[in-house]
Amino acid sequence: MEEPLNLDNLLPSFKHPIVQELSMLFERAGKKFYLVGGTVRDALLGKFHEDLDFTTDAIPDEIIAIVKAWADNLWLIGIRFGTVGLSKGHLKIEITTLRSEVYADQTRHPQVSFETDIYYDLSRRDFTVNAMALELPEGRLIDPFNGQEDLIHRVLRTPMSPEQSFTDDPLRMMRAVRFVSTMGMHLSPEVEEAITLYRGELARVSSERIRDEFSKILTGRDPVKALRLLLSTSLSSEFVPELSNLKITQDPEHHHKDVLEHTFTVVERVEPDLVLRLAALFHDIGKPETKEIIEGKVTFYNHDAVGASIAKRRLRALKYPGAIIDGVTGLIYLHMRVYTYRMGWTDKAVRRYIKDAGELRDKLNELIRADCTTKNPRKMRDALQVFDELEERILSLEEAEETAKIRAPIDGHEIMQYLGIKPGPLVGEILNLLLDAKLEGEINTKEEAYAMVDRWAGERGIKP
Ligand code: ATP
Ligand code: MG
Repeated sequence: MEEPLNLDNLLPSFKHPIVQELSMLFERAGKKFYLVGGTVRDALLGKFHEDLDFTTDAIPDEIIAIVKAWADNLWLIGIRFGTVGLSKGHLKIEITTLRSEVYADQTRHPQVSFETDIYYDLSRRDFTVNAMALELPEGRLIDPFNGQEDLIHRVLRTPMSPEQSFTDDPLRMMRAVRFVSTMGMHLSPEVEEAITLYRGELARVSSERIRDEFSKILTGRDPVKALRLLLSTSLSSEFVPELSNLKITQDPEHHHKDVLEHTFTVVERVEPDLVLRLAALFHDIGKPETKEIIEGKVTFYNHDAVGASIAKRRLRALKYPGAIIDGVTGLIYLHMRVYTYRMGWTDKAVRRYIKDAGELRDKLNELIRADCTTKNPRKMRDALQVFDELEERILSLEEAEETAKIRAPIDGHEIMQYLGIKPGPLVGEILNLLLDAKLEGEINTKEEAYAMVDRWAGERGIKP
């Protein structure tokens, strides 16, 4: 992919009527005005953003004075860092005062001082491909670090030395890996070496910022290339140390080189949905801990449950929201269940599966199919047949009854009133029994349910 970039691609960005109007406002005010950073990079690649970043030598108060009457909306939350946000039509625009970021050692937040030199501003950016500016209104490309050429060769290089850059802001190491996954980039040898050397600096970055980059890495177009890089540089050991354990767990039964290679295949096969990609990445994370040789055979008994709890711990540490954690751990917990189907599932077992999988069912289906990486065509055919059979059975069961609506015929309040007991574990116990009986088809009506409560209370010595 070494085609020259088409500079005409920049035209839509600065010939856009809204951008033209805005540039003229700054020109009239006698201020410099540039399109900058990722928006220039993407414009060169032919992608027009509706989120545009600009920089100017006007200070924030001046920016506000210039755009106030013209903008549809103004946001001033970034003002402390010199950024004024606004919207105009369908465009979202951020204008930041040219700045040099002075880092005191070991502090996380740069002190902002205002700087009038665009070259200096560009030199503080993460990668040369992100360190280009387009001077407006005339549209002159400013590219002091050969970002264009690096973009042609798809290589990530830092404007300053990578050592300086990554110790100033260690998140840039994650951003590098992110661009590998999302943009088909590769690292320059110096950048790769610096990540290996300075990976420990990532400890200074908040979990939330690491998490956001990790999510982008996993949902990018080449997550496996990025994951290999995270492992080869050991950057992964700073925020997902469990991953490297997968490398050493041989799984000869399944003809995979190791669990890690198998994991990569599964990650690649599932669609770029965050819950699915995280579940794919962690689905066998319980294997190293559960590996046992029983009668000469390698087994990973319980690796689904163990894996779910390892993943839960890790995702919590990375501050993922509860809904994501529940989805991912649910999928991991359930990813082996289907393998007992051949042993014969009753309708009740199928209904349990439906209930347990709940809203995750489609994702679970995708995960278990992706997980089937056997090279043996017969085994593959057998497995796929089981998945199909189960899906068919689920559909016919669901048609026959609206499973999602299944409830015990009486609820907890009715039980407490009937037995004259207070809320507590006993109510839960009898509700579970009733639901089980309902799933089995043993009870349907309230009368049958109360009869069952009577029998249960009798055995417990509770008097209704
Ligand atoms: P995307 O918008 O697709 O996430 P981007 O490259 O536009 O990618 P942003 O986070 O929007 O990334 O940042 C805009 C620009 O700001 C970048 O292109 C880069 O020039 C600069 N930048 C962002 N984060 C950093 C950082 N941590 N260190 C240095 N420069 C950065
Ligand atoms: Mg951006």
